[in-house]
Amino acid sequence: MKALVLRKNYSLEANPNPLETVDWPRPRPMDRQILVKVSACGVCHTELDEIEGRTPPPRFPIILGHQIVGRVEQAGPGVRRFKPGDRVGIGWIFSACGKCRFCLNGDDNLCPEFRATGRDADGGYAEYTTVEEDFAHPIPEVFSDLEAAPLLCAGAIGYRSLRLSGMDNGKTLGLIGFGASAHLVLQMARHQHPGGKIFVFARSEAEQQFALELGASWAGGIESQPPQPLDCAIDTTPAWKPVLEGLKNLAPGGRFIINAIRKEERDKEILLKLDYPHHLWLEKEIKSVANVARRDIREFLRLAAEIPIQPEIQVFPLEEANRALMELKNRKIRGAKVLRIGP
Ligand SMILES: [Zn+2]
Ligand SMILES: [Zn+2]
Repeated sequence: MKALVLRKNYSLEANPNPLETVDWPRPRPMDRQILVKVSACGVCHTELDEIEGRTPPPRFPIILGHQIVGRVEQAGPGVRRFKPGDRVGIGWIFSACGKCRFCLNGDDNLCPEFRATGRDADGGYAEYTTVEEDFAHPIPEVFSDLEAAPLLCAGAIGYRSLRLSGMDNGKTLGLIGFGASAHLVLQMARHQHPGGKIFVFARSEAEQQFALELGASWAGGIESQPPQPLDCAIDTTPAWKPVLEGLKNLAPGGRFIINAIRKEERDKEILLKLDYPHHLWLEKEIKSVANVARRDIREFLRLAAEIPIQPEIQVFPLEEANRALMELKNRKIRGAKVLRIGP
């Protein structure tokens, strides 16, 4: 099969083509696994963190990609939920132990044995992939394969972030950074909390304009002051400055969610400017959002179909994954980038 592999960690500034197109053995489904013929795979900021070594794969070569849509090609021994031809999606959660207190509580995203698709196991930048059937999800009919791909990470983790933020009707929500996840969160938040206000902080004017088109109450630069303090905020940027800027704008008792698997180190020194009375006093909270639980993907897909959410996508052929990743790195973003695989 055709696949794109990462052979080691690279700095993208030194090597803008880290993924290599190769002819690779097609995987075989093991016990309770399905073999999936991939048709679309979303491109996520986390791939940059894997390539540059902020969350490195434990082995090389590895096939990246964790927003996978395709059809079941073959069911392995003991598979009950799916049959060949069924359309499925696979997200960041590839497996978890199923026995620890986190798993038993539905928080399998926090399991000590959490394994990630496209990092700890081969992912979707390829024509075929395998996954245990319990970690595959039926895709609602309203979405095409390409539209459904970004829902599996950007959407599902955005859903988890929005829930953890404590957003409610009548409250104000700040979205700091406006990429694949935030443009879906904005649509979700408007649907779930129509009495709330959403303020978007984005670097480029194009992103700010896009946020207003999608119904943001206000949009401005990362350092601008919103019309009202923020009760909740979700930060999806790779940097630290937006955290300080956001904490400054947080209302008393407000909660700040960091939705990033890793932050870049580049501007970390700015944290020395943290001013307790200004940024944290009056019971402001900071919380990270980690991975994604299976129930987030399930609940979010249902909600996305009901709204229905309209993902803005930009399609690239599989072979041009390196270009899509570099555009993401250089913040050339409108909505979500998706690889088309096969005809
Ligand atoms: Zn992702
Ligand atoms: Zn567990």
